[in-house]
Amino acid sequence: MKKYRFDLFLGVCAIGLLVLCGVLYTNGQNQNELEKALSQPQSKPALKETKFGYDVTQYHFEEYPINYGSFLGDILSDRGVSYNTIYKLEKAAEKVYSLRKIKAGKNITLIRKDECEAPTGFVYSPSLFTYVVFTFDDTISVSEKQVPFETCRETLTGTIEAGSSLSQSMDDKGLSLAMTDELEDALAQVYFPNAQPGDQWKIIYDRKYIKGKPVGSGHILAACYKNGNSEYFGFYFENDRYKGYYDIEGTPNKKTFLRAPVRASRISSGYNLNRFHPVLKRRKPHLGTDYAAAKGTPIFSVSDGVITRRGFTKGNGNYLKIKHNGVYQSQYLHMSKFKSGLKVGSRVSQGQVIGYVGSTGLATGNHVCFRFWKNGRQINHLRENFPPLDPMPYESLPEYYEVRDYYRRELSELLYEDEVKVVYAITNLSS
Ligand SMILES: [Zn+2]
Repeated sequence: MKKYRFDLFLGVCAIGLLVLCGVLYTNGQNQNELEKALSQPQSKPALKETKFGYDVTQYHFEEYPINYGSFLGDILSDRGVSYNTIYKLEKAAEKVYSLRKIKAGKNITLIRKDECEAPTGFVYSPSLFTYVVFTFDDTISVSEKQVPFETCRETLTGTIEAGSSLSQSMDDKGLSLAMTDELEDALAQVYFPNAQPGDQWKIIYDRKYIKGKPVGSGHILAACYKNGNSEYFGFYFENDRYKGYYDIEGTPNKKTFLRAPVRASRISSGYNLNRFHPVLKRRKPHLGTDYAAAKGTPIFSVSDGVITRRGFTKGNGNYLKIKHNGVYQSQYLHMSKFKSGLKVGSRVSQGQVIGYVGSTGLATGNHVCFRFWKNGRQINHLRENFPPLDPMPYESLPEYYEVRDYYRRELSELLYEDEVKVVYAITNLSS
């Protein structure tokens, strides 16, 4: 027994090392070397392969889809599990993970000791990071477990090419749209629809890996954006009082009013008192700002407020108007549809989705025409100087500066031309 344990320990160390090396070196040319190393015959017996903690040589697994309208109880009883057991399982599950939380459209994995016998348990994964083991062998037990994952700190840089956008340049580097959203949050002081060719960005972010594969989009810790000779920074800071992105001085990178009601969009027509209308074929002032975006792109409220109008007109199509305070109001036109549940009188908060981009009403293509009022007069919101948000109070700044200085150093060591690289694995959790 002692000998076996020792071997097991060595095996765990060896596999741990291989996984770590795997994550550290899986990029580019080192891939082949890693594969070679992994395929070498091993002098020590390999660690027993397990699935959800079960020895794969002792158990049989069958993935089974939960269809809409089907009942878990039926699936189990059809396979020989008694009603009494199902009833007891239901009771036991209540305290840990209710059977009612198992969603149609997902799979469960049935577990059997013998292929010809009734299952003795099943596994359900509510998310990529957790799974729940339901066993009803001799005893009934339900336990929720964490999938072992590793968090790696990574860095990435990019350049906006001519005719491209921030989201395109991030997509080119394999980052999801969610990461573009996060970068826009991290650098809320930058107005991205005005991005110029040659603008560059750098980010430091954490990404989770399961079995060497990245999962989820990642979380930005520090970002920097270069536009001409200006460089903008955003640092993620969190303590018991503050949470979010802050600039060099410690002012939140957040606005009282967002500059655009859609993300990853471009201005297709600006506020213009002298504009030639493309549909009406005559000069008509454009008292709004048009943001072109794909049909269905979420539109959000630029600030907290209350919905004062919700309707349809021949010109506006589906539109909403929001009163933000005694001074400012905003309006959003040509929506393909409204976010359900919103009506006149509904409260909305900054960044809350209120509808989706479309081309209803008098519109040549999919866009949102954004209109903005100050004291009852339509104005160009991009020209308005809104009051800035208060910076962090003095007593919290030293703590923030420590975080800021650390990431600032890391960012300065990162060149704009650098390709993706994994800096280091920061956690190695196992269930
Ligand atoms: Zn417009």
